[in-house]
This record gives sequence, C-alpha cells and structure tokens, in this order.
Amino acid sequence: MNDVADIIIIGSGASGAAAAWSLSRDKSLRIVCFEQGSLSNSSDYPTKSEDWELSRSDKSSFDPNIRKNLADYPIDDSNSPISIANFNGFGGSTILYSAHFPRFHPSDFRVKTLDNIADDWPLNYSELNPFFDENEKKMGVAGLVGDTAYPEYNSLLPPVPLGDMGKKLAKAFNEMNWHWWPSYAAINTDKRNNRANCINLGPCNVGCSQGAKGSVDVTYWPLARLNGVEVYTESRVYEITLDKKGLANGVLYFDKNGDECEFKAKIVIVACSGIGTPRLLLNSKSEAFPEGLLNDNGLVGKNLMLHPLAYVEGVFDEDLKSSIGPHGCCILSQEFYETRGENDFSRGYTMQILRGTPPIETATTGYFMRQLSIGKDHHQDFKKIFNHTAGIAIISEDLPELHNRVELDYENKDLFGLPGVKIHYELSNNTKNILNHGIKMSKEIFSSAGARVTSSFAPVKNSGWHLMGTARMGSNPKTSVVNKFGQAHQVKNIFIVDSSVFVTSGAVNPVATAQAITLFACDYIRKNISNISNPL
Ligand SMILES: Cc1cc2nc3c(=O)[nH]c(=O)nc-3n(C[C@H](O)[C@H](O)[C@H](O)COP(=O)(O)OP(=O)(O)OC[C@H]3O[C@@H](n4cnc5c(N)ncnc54)[C@H](O)[C@@H]3O)c2cc1C
Ligand code: SF4
Repeated sequence: MNDVADIIIIGSGASGAAAAWSLSRDKSLRIVCFEQGSLSNSSDYPTKSEDWELSRSDKSSFDPNIRKNLADYPIDDSNSPISIANFNGFGGSTILYSAHFPRFHPSDFRVKTLDNIADDWPLNYSELNPFFDENEKKMGVAGLVGDTAYPEYNSLLPPVPLGDMGKKLAKAFNEMNWHWWPSYAAINTDKRNNRANCINLGPCNVGCSQGAKGSVDVTYWPLARLNGVEVYTESRVYEITLDKKGLANGVLYFDKNGDECEFKAKIVIVACSGIGTPRLLLNSKSEAFPEGLLNDNGLVGKNLMLHPLAYVEGVFDEDLKSSIGPHGCCILSQEFYETRGENDFSRGYTMQILRGTPPIETATTGYFMRQLSIGKDHHQDFKKIFNHTAGIAIISEDLPELHNRVELDYENKDLFGLPGVKIHYELSNNTKNILNHGIKMSKEIFSSAGARVTSSFAPVKNSGWHLMGTARMGSNPKTSVVNKFGQAHQVKNIFIVDSSVFVTSGAVNPVATAQAITLFACDYIRKNISNISNPL
C-alpha cells in the first residue's frame, strides 16, 4: 500500500464529510479519511424493531459513557452540570442527531460590535451565504421560504408536517403576536437524491433506517466516495506529525487490529468534533508544541460552549397524536433571539417545539414529571398523557469563557491506552438569566395554548450535544488557534473545519453553520492548494 495522500481528513462526521465532498471535486487529489468508529448499517438500526425505544438506554444511547462502543473514549463530565452527547462512527454524531437545521443569524458573527460582549468573528454572514445554500442543497433541508427571521432562504423542501400539536402552538404564538415558523430540518420530506421520504414515525435519534434524515452517511458520503475518497474506518488517529520545517507531514494511527501505523499527507484536516479535535491536538505533543499541537497560546480546549438547554413540558386535554413526527422538528420561535434592552441578559435564545415523548419515556419519567400514578390507575393516567404532551426546548446563547474547557484525562483511557477527556463547565449568569426568561415565556405560550405545564427545569443534564469553541478562529494568533479559513496560525497545512472553531455559539443548532464554514474553508484550500501543501 502506498501510504501517502494529498489530503488526510480526520473524522467522518458532519464537517469531515462536507470537507471530503468539497475537496474531492478535484479528482487529481488522493484524499483519505480516517474514522475511529465503524460503518453503521441502517438495516440494523433499532428503528426497524418495536423495542427501539429500549435501545436508547444502552447501545444507541447518545451518552458515550453509557454506550461504551469500542470507538468511544471516556469523557469525565462530573465537573459539568451538562453531560456530553456524541456518536463515534462513520457519519459521526449526525447518525443520532435530530437534523434541526437553522442557520446562525448575521448578528451572531458580530456580538462584540453589537452588544459589546465576547468577540466578533473574523468572517461574516455574507461570506458564508453561498456555502449555506450549497450545503442545504446537499443535505436536503425542509422548511418554508419567507421567514422574517431568515430572509436569505430561497429554496427548501416542503416543511415537516406540523401535526395537530404544532398547529395548536402556532396558533398560541399568533395570539401572543410572537414570531414562529416551521422548523428547518435536514429531512427528506419528498423522495430526493435516491433517498426515501420521511414517514413521520419519530425515532430519529436512534438512526433513521428509512434514510430520510440527512445524516452525512447518506448525503455527502456517497458523493465523496464516488469521487474517489478512501475511508479507513476503525482507524484511530493519535498524533498529527510535524517535519523539521514545522509543517504537518501525516498522522500516526491505530488500525482495527490495534497496530500502530503511519500515513503521510501534504495537508491535514481535523474534523473530530468540539471535544475530539482538542483531544487529538492536546495529545499531539512535539518539541515545537510541548503543550499540544497549536497550543502555544494555551487556547486549545478552552472556551467550550455547550448551549445549555431549558425544557418546559405542557399537557393538553386532547389527544393530539403529539409523539408522531420527527422529534425535534415541528416549529421554532426566534422572538427572543436578539438582544433586547429590557432584559437582564445579552443575546437570547431559540424556542424549539418538540414532539411529545414516546411511550416508555412517558411511562417511566411520567411518575416524576407528568403526575402519572403507579398502580391501578396507571393505564388510565397514561392514556391522558401519552400523545397529549408537547415540549419547548430553550436553546440559549452560550458565550465563550476560558474556564469552560476540555482537558486530557490520563486516568481514564480508551481501548488503545489513549487518554480520555475531562470537561470543566459552568453556566454563566447571562446563560442562567436567558434560561429563566425562556422558561417564563414558554409557560406563557402553553397557557395561551390551553395546556397545563407539568414540568420545567434547566439546565437539562443530558443535552451536551452542541460542542463548540475549543479551537477558535480569529485574526490574532495570540487570541485564536486558526484563521477565518480554519488554517492553523502556526502550521499552515493544518486546517480545523468543525465547530471547534466557533468564536461564539449563536442560539441555534450548529450543523448548518459548521458545514457552511467547512465548505468555505475547503474552497480556500482548493484555490490555494499549491501554496499550502507540504511538498514532502
Ligand atoms: C442526540 C443528538 C442530537 C443532535 N441534534 C442536532 C440537531 O438537531 N441539529 C444540529 O445542528 N446538531 C445536532 N446535534 C449535534 C451535531 O450532531 C454535531 O454538532 C455535529 O455532528 C458535529 O459535527 P463534527 O463533524 O464536528 O463531529 P461528529 O459529527 O461528532 O464527527 C466527528 C467524528 O470524528 C471521529 N473521530 C474523533 N476523533 C478521532 C480520531 N482521533 N481519529 C479518527 N476519528 C476520530 C469520531 O468518531 C466521529 O465520527 C445533535 C447531536 C446529538 C448527539
Ligand atoms: S421520522 Fe422521518 S427522519 Fe425521523 S426516523 Fe422516521 S423517517 Fe427518519
């Protein structure tokens, strides 16, 4: 085997897949992707069987510490009120994600200028706009053009059906005169690109066996592989290597048998997620970077942002068949997204309306949260609640703070003896105030819709699925790790293209923006490839 590539991509998730497709349009390049997890077979997804819901508590859990697949690494999040959720396998966390797909707002890139907080990004919304468009075409995004919060959308698949519950809440938002709109969702609502349409049954978070959800194994990857990208699964990169000139010249990895191997490359692209990327960089120690690759200013792993979530649940008298339909994708409201002078916080939040909980969750957590009795009245009570509930998730802006961070954990190691990670994270007062406000406003909406609120709390423990900020971009090498193209300030042929580079978090799910950033970076790489590449 000839172990030399033009480009190595580490990680096959949301960003790695977009990078693979974008770069592979130049068919003269040899591109190799390393993925530590294995291929997922959609015909084995739990959604094929009736007991699918049970799998969420073990093999399909989004908590790696519960799932404990061979590819998972230990994540000690005992020092964080929010636990980390991810998936390590071909397609990355998009295998389990909800496919909620709104973009950042233009203001999200300018919070220092607008609100005098955190930092502005070194790039702006209009530079990303063509890449948002391109990405949405590739991922297949459903929604409705005409939203005042997002005037830039110009072409979308038909929206995911609102259902009776969505319509009821939409009416309540209208009565309050608050913004709402059908959710943006990377879900095939029509047959398209050789993929089936969504059948609206709901359990998207254990993997969509229908192939309707836009996880990258069914969107970007078939195209990238057709273009010749090679994928090495069950291949865990543990170090990015540098040559004497200080340029990256490849990676060291464990193959599926646990053998240590080397692969050379002229350019190395890192897309291991907001936790996996700092883990790999911190583990890549050398004479030039004794504290970890690109960590000369100590910023790798710092400024972790997690989008703390609040949850409010309401129960309606009527059976609204509310558990039917893609879980996270019904309607959203961005009434409170931007900074308002009258609030005690800067920036704001998205209200994401969630479907009702599935049957087992309704019954098991119902006792504590939903006033469901245990004993002879259980079935009667269950009928009054199952398919009668709706949830409102408050996705809060999470501002960067140095003390929120990812560190290597040498006491807890993965299968091959590589260090796991420790998370240190706490909520700022700004975030707490945002969440309190979101809870209050959600209660008003439920009251206007005629629902009884049965629970409300924040932060939601098991919701650390948006992982951002741990290798931030910026123009100044002293205060950032990469430039606006994801190019490392200190090593010009290393690029970071995942949400680690986010400067601030916005208040929406990150994938639409992260992938637009990936495409933007790869456009730069393609145009400048001869200047960037290590001649080896
Ligand atoms: C349950 C759940 C629901 C979510 N819902 C949404 C949603 O509705 N909308 C949204 O925008 N986002 C959502 N997210 C978040 C979204 O999935 C992630 O933000 C996104 O997938 C991150 O993309 P990524 O490429 O950075 O990382 P991932 O998609 O996580 O991919 C990283 C890949 O890199 C691999 N890797 C890591 N380290 C190495 C290494 N050293 N060597 C080789 N391979 C390595 C991993 O195995 C993994 O496959 C959700 C996530 C979860 C878990
Ligand atoms: S509801 Fe649609 S997207 Fe979700 S799992 Fe079912 S078919 Fe897939």
